[in-house]
Amino acid sequence: MQVIIVNKIHVEVEWKDIKNIHLTVYPPDARVHISAPLAMSADSVRLYVITKLEWINKRIEMVRNQARQSEREYVSGENHYYKGIRYRLNVIYRNTPPAVELKGTRNINIYVREGSSSEKRGEVLREWYRAELKEALQPIVAKWEEILQVQAKHWEVKQMKTLWGSCNTRSRHIIFNLELIKKPTQCIEYIVAHEMTHLVERLHNSKFTAILDHHIPNWRQLKDELNEFIV
Ligand SMILES: [Zn+2]
Repeated sequence: MQVIIVNKIHVEVEWKDIKNIHLTVYPPDARVHISAPLAMSADSVRLYVITKLEWINKRIEMVRNQARQSEREYVSGENHYYKGIRYRLNVIYRNTPPAVELKGTRNINIYVREGSSSEKRGEVLREWYRAELKEALQPIVAKWEEILQVQAKHWEVKQMKTLWGSCNTRSRHIIFNLELIKKPTQCIEYIVAHEMTHLVERLHNSKFTAILDHHIPNWRQLKDELNEFIV
């Protein structure tokens, strides 16, 4: 392993018996790693890094953001998103079962017992998010069943790392990512429409995009919006 420095970025380079150069930015510390073919010179690797600088910087920023987000402690003053809007979290201690509520247009109040851990507070908020997303999804799924004349056999909400939704076309089983509740409603609806369109067309082909184009002309914009921020 060798380290080369380009524009103050430390890049680990590892030469291996492989065909193509491979670049990765690893979470949580945004470590930049390259696997290079044995025949490739250090100078060529450096040139490659230079051409990829913009991508690398974006990726580093994303990975660091993600790390910051997951370091949440669920204390008063933290920002948390709900349906695309940023709210301030207020932790209120009281001796009743845990609860969460929106207060006004800017605050999410979370009620927990004195001495509750940050894990517990995170769990309370997550369960509230889950219930809220399920409630939001219900009418949207029904609406798209009507529009597309299809029926999902079963749908559920799960925490997923890389996908906003998934659809098993054989079992007609759809999974929605819990993180969707942090996104604007139009984005949630786009994912519902997308996954349910798979019940008509399994592949992302021209038939698939034609269906989306017809019903949600701005779906590409919503897709970009979803991928822009990881909150
Ligand atoms: Zn898809």
